Amino acid sequence: MLARRDPHGLWPLFAAFAITGGLSLYALALARANHSPVALWLANGALVGWLVQRPLARTWPLLLASFLGFVAAKLYLGDALSEAVLIGVCNVLETAIVCETIHRRFPSITPHTRFMDLARVGVLSALAASVICALAMMWIMNLWAQLDVLMVANTLFRAHFVGMVISGSTSLAIVTPYLWRLKPARPGTLVRDLGLLAALTAGVLVESRVPLVFLVYPQLLWLVFRHRFVGMVVGVAMIAVGVSLATTLGIGPFNLVVGATPAFRVAMGQVFIGVTCLVALPVVLALSEQDRLRKQMQESELRYRLLADNSGDLVMRIRSNGDRMYVSPSVKDLLGWEVEDFQRPRPDLIHPDDRERIASEVAKLRMQGGDTTATYRLQHKDGHYLWIEAFARLVPSPDGDDAKDIIYTGRDVTERVCIEQALMESQSQMRTVTDNIPAVIARIDMDERYTYVNRFVEQISGEVPPEIIGRTVHEVRGNALYDRLKPYLERAYAGQPVMFEYEATYRGKPMHFQSHYVPDRDAHGRVRGVYALTTEITHIKNTERELLRIAHQDSLTGLANRRYFSERVPVFLKQAQQHDMAVLLALVDIDNFKTINDTYGHAIGDVVLAEVGQCLQKLVREGEIVARIGGDEFVVVCNDINNIKQAKAFVQSLWERLHMEIDTGVAQVKVSLSVGAAICLNEISADAVMKLADDALYKAKEAGRDTYRFLTHGLGDNGGNDDNSSSETIKLRRAQ
Ligand code: GH3
Ligand code: MG
Repeated sequence: MLARRDPHGLWPLFAAFAITGGLSLYALALARANHSPVALWLANGALVGWLVQRPLARTWPLLLASFLGFVAAKLYLGDALSEAVLIGVCNVLETAIVCETIHRRFPSITPHTRFMDLARVGVLSALAASVICALAMMWIMNLWAQLDVLMVANTLFRAHFVGMVISGSTSLAIVTPYLWRLKPARPGTLVRDLGLLAALTAGVLVESRVPLVFLVYPQLLWLVFRHRFVGMVVGVAMIAVGVSLATTLGIGPFNLVVGATPAFRVAMGQVFIGVTCLVALPVVLALSEQDRLRKQMQESELRYRLLADNSGDLVMRIRSNGDRMYVSPSVKDLLGWEVEDFQRPRPDLIHPDDRERIASEVAKLRMQGGDTTATYRLQHKDGHYLWIEAFARLVPSPDGDDAKDIIYTGRDVTERVCIEQALMESQSQMRTVTDNIPAVIARIDMDERYTYVNRFVEQISGEVPPEIIGRTVHEVRGNALYDRLKPYLERAYAGQPVMFEYEATYRGKPMHFQSHYVPDRDAHGRVRGVYALTTEITHIKNTERELLRIAHQDSLTGLANRRYFSERVPVFLKQAQQHDMAVLLALVDIDNFKTINDTYGHAIGDVVLAEVGQCLQKLVREGEIVARIGGDEFVVVCNDINNIKQAKAFVQSLWERLHMEIDTGVAQVKVSLSVGAAICLNEISADAVMKLADDALYKAKEAGRDTYRFLTHGLGDNGGNDDNSSSETIKLRRAQ
């Protein structure tokens, strides 16, 4: 299971076991052999530097292996298992506290890590963990033997704290390749410098006459300066191991103090190692921080230089006197000029029409600071002009003086400007067309607000476009018209093009309009408004009406003609049937009209026809039909008939009233007529009624003319077809 958790297999577990076991054995055995306290506890720190870049959850197998390593060392030295386990737990706790504290703040050590902060967090967490661990160990060790509690705790704390700082930074440096690369030195020089430090350390520690241990500092600092982290960690570790060996073995300058106990010697050694750390660590951190910043700056400079050099845009840094400190090589591709041609100001290359504007923009930028964007024309080396969109920002000069430089970025926007110009031109053409088209063109957004309306609207309503744009359809068209238009607007919003006609009164004039509403869709097909095209069709409507009137009117008499009659009669019959009403259709034919024509001439015949027509017109009521359907043949249709008697009375009065002498101005013409009437109650076709009336007329003519006859349909026996049934009073409305 452990092997599965670690991608490298089991070897890290063995390594953790071996490192902790080995370092523990070394420290414990050395101290015991010389009856002195442990001078330097390197085991925990060695693990910290290794594990600090892993989350705590992934470190526990290694902590467990290290714990076992410690217990094994203790058991090997003959200690009790329970003591080994309890102290082992303290060591694991110390390691875990430091690892977790650092890991939370610095999840990974990268070139961007601030080493000073890392060192601060590391030292503080090591301090806290060492205090906790020393107190806990002191308490545990006190269980087995009566000890000088404070002295033990004090020695343990120093051994753990100093050991943690030294071995922690050493192992961190070993497992962080970046730190090795920070200041690469030839391996030969590192070995030489380390050898010198080793010789010096051995020299000052072996001799016991004069306290010359401080002599190691210059060489250590030289190592730090030359090799940074690597120099420090290996150097300090070397000194620490030497000092701990010397103090434990009771040799060297730490033995000079008269009557010093082993514990005192160890304490002195620990103080020396701690001071060595304090001397070397800030120096290496400061130098590394400097290296890091320098490297970052170099990298960013390189990056931006790379960007500017390879940018398709023209990039320039312009001094206050106009000199260009940097001109990107893209000037050649963009404008055909060499970089050298652009080292000095080139106002001559700016289009004469743009020169003044650009000069004032530059002056404004120099005065007010900030940045500005301008689009202008620059001349290519081959003579033609390019449209350049330039962005310029005033920045403090990196040269350090108080001067300000302009960072200029310019790009070729010729294509875009040409497209914009073409677009503007086509928009203006479009506006000319729409403003002069004899129709109202409008766009309405989803809030029913006009966003555009052409100028023709003024000719209709008297309002100019600015008075309409921004207002809603409801506000512009008023309640009544809005209610009329709303359903069509809603259909267009739903994505359906609609066409409809409506009437509206503008400036007191009733007008007819035809509107097309077309949905305006965005790139995704969603409706975002409606285009409305409205044409005034009043004159068309009037012409239509006139044509209809002409088509339906007999020009001689002014009555309806046969065509109108044929269209209306079926409707008339249907309505009557729906209301269970009887219909009376009377055919009126002038007797011997041919003779009138022959006797008085055709014109007089026309006058007679007109006179008869007018007379008939006066006899019918509104809603009833009177038409001239043939040469001298007229028809009257009415439905307000209550009984046969009334119907016959009506026909008789018709016949009597048309029995007249017409003064044509040339002659007095006597006119008599024959009337054939059909009275129908039941459902019957127009042709059948006509046939019935025609039959009745035939009967009247056959009876010698100048009379009237009836035929009925749907009235049963009582209706009778007999012309003598005039006294009958049969109800013609059906009983409900
Ligand atoms: P009847 O009593 O049987 O009706 O005999 P009629 O002479 O009236 O014969 P009919 O009704 O068949 O003849 C109608 C005449 O009307 C025939 C035609 O010359 C004449 N006529 C038709 N249209 C016009 C018109 O517009 N003007 C004039 N003046 N005469 C017309
Ligand atoms: Mg006739």
